[in-house]
Amino acid sequence: MSESMKAIVVERLGPPDVMEVRELPVPQPGPGEVRLKVEAVGINFADVLAVAGEYLTRTRLPSTPGMEFAGIVDALGEGVTGVQVGQRVAALAGRGGLAEYAISPAAALIQVPESFTAAQAAAFPVSYFTAYHGLKTLGHGKEGEWVLVQAAAGALGTASIQLAKALGMNVIAMASTEEKLHIARDLGADVTLLQDDPDRVQKVRDAAGGKGVPLILEVVGGKRFQESLDMAANRGRIIVIGNASREQANLRPVELMKRNLTVTGLWLTSLMGDQEATREAAETLTQLVASGQVTPQVGPTYPLKDSARAFQDILDRKTTGKVIIEPQR
Ligand code: NDP
Repeated sequence: MSESMKAIVVERLGPPDVMEVRELPVPQPGPGEVRLKVEAVGINFADVLAVAGEYLTRTRLPSTPGMEFAGIVDALGEGVTGVQVGQRVAALAGRGGLAEYAISPAAALIQVPESFTAAQAAAFPVSYFTAYHGLKTLGHGKEGEWVLVQAAAGALGTASIQLAKALGMNVIAMASTEEKLHIARDLGADVTLLQDDPDRVQKVRDAAGGKGVPLILEVVGGKRFQESLDMAANRGRIIVIGNASREQANLRPVELMKRNLTVTGLWLTSLMGDQEATREAAETLTQLVASGQVTPQVGPTYPLKDSARAFQDILDRKTTGKVIIEPQR
């Protein structure tokens, strides 16, 4: 094996074009870590924010982005058990995926079905665990209940629609183009609506029996956050998962009193530390994958050298499903 590898390096925070391909030494796994030959990296909106320096945690420089990836276990650090060299796994390592080889704590590995391609494995953990926690762990969604899914054709959006339908819920899907709404309908969304429909608040309330929506997965933020409050039913639960608009939202707590609303924040990183919630999510997701009710939606795929373009396409809202980068090509 060669001593060096290609990797993306970020030395200053900013727009996607701060990412450069460099030659770096192949990393060695320390105690409790494994090395993966990276086949596919799932790119999340959070990766784009991390490169811009706008994520929830500070991006330490220099940095190799890529929080979620899949590949073949290639070397084991001291004390690692329960995983074998040659096995395909996914990793939620937090960073480092955009490289031919990457290190993950063994504790951050996620077993994936053998039927998954590498791209499906890389498209799975963040979006599907987040969707589960939004719909069930924190959202307490019930069979027959309506849920509003924003950015419905994106990575989290497609996962949320599939999962909500598999759990017997009714889905109102919003997205910015007709093509994206078509994708949402194909996945089973019951009602679809353009994000810029001038009558969107009333239409969403009407779709959910005229009473508003009991559960909203809020990922856009900014002025759309206020609209989510207006779309919610009495006792509605609004799960704040993202801020794709990158705009400030205003929340006047007294607004929540009028319809007894609950606003709950969701961050997958901190929820992964909750063993009970993670076990419950993994059990349900494993069953739904095995029965074919849930299949990761792989979107556009790029080689490593086009990483900046992939990130820019996400920012420009050009992508659907999970964007994948393949470091070996
Ligand atoms: P997506 O694949 O959904 O891509 C982002 C999408 O956001 C776009 O396609 C676009 O869909 C929508 N969007 C709405 N407004 C804007 C805007 N002003 N600029 C750019 N995009 C916009 O990404 P992800 O699935 O990775 O993430 C979706 C959201 O969920 C993000 O906000 C992300 O931060 C959040 N998230 C949070 C997690 C957590 O732990 N809290 C975990 C996973 C995701 P459209 O064109 O249809 O509006």
